[in-house]
Amino acid sequence: MGKSLFLWLNLEIMVDLSTKTNETKLVMALPITSTTPRAVIEHMVREQVYARLGLALPSASKAPNALLVNISARHCHLTQEAVEALFGPGHQLRPMKELYQHGQFAAQESVTLIGPRSRIISNLRILGPCRSLNQIELAYTDAIALGFDIPVRMSGDVAGTPGCMLMGPHGYFQLHEGVIRAQPHVHMHPEDAAFYQVKHLQEMKLRVHGPLSMTFERLVVRVDPSFKLEVHIDTDEGNACGLKPNTFCELLS
Ligand SMILES: [Zn+2]
Repeated sequence: MGKSLFLWLNLEIMVDLSTKTNETKLVMALPITSTTPRAVIEHMVREQVYARLGLALPSASKAPNALLVNISARHCHLTQEAVEALFGPGHQLRPMKELYQHGQFAAQESVTLIGPRSRIISNLRILGPCRSLNQIELAYTDAIALGFDIPVRMSGDVAGTPGCMLMGPHGYFQLHEGVIRAQPHVHMHPEDAAFYQVKHLQEMKLRVHGPLSMTFERLVVRVDPSFKLEVHIDTDEGNACGLKPNTFCELLS
């Protein structure tokens, strides 16, 4: 995401507003970096354009923060104990890529997952930092390929779920439970929850527009002061609704 997208965004909005005003020249002074998500840039540009033109924001743009809808590819969260069993005593996860949620990262380390019929998934990415619970989040297609029957669960709710074996360069680690398909959910800061008038663990709808337009009816809200507004769906769900970086999505209560 570089200068070209930035310019393109300006152009799009300028064209969009050309019937309303002759003053389409914009001077932007926004803290945009190469990693700023497109939806966040669009949100900032829209706010500034409307403010400058003295127009009321369209209702979908009045939210305090941009809505990001991201696809979570299969991954695992591990305890420090599991990391040491797999990678050696004292091993610390090394961040490879920062995620949108504050402090979360994709680690350089990955593991091999061995399923119930000895089928495997190699290069299963570990997301850090370490947690107090081991959890593996797979798409349903992954689970079928591996021979698992996995339930839809919220993160952390792993009681009674299938386990598996993990293999790392140093050794094996047995999970007795923890393999889930994550329930589609939205991370919210309290100010987002106030805007959408929802509470922690309440359900909302996510409408995804575009050629495969569909609505997720049971998107679970997770509220925490450390969260930034972001929806997480898995690869099956993202592929089913044809989610692309420019797909328009909206939260509905
Ligand atoms: Zn999430």
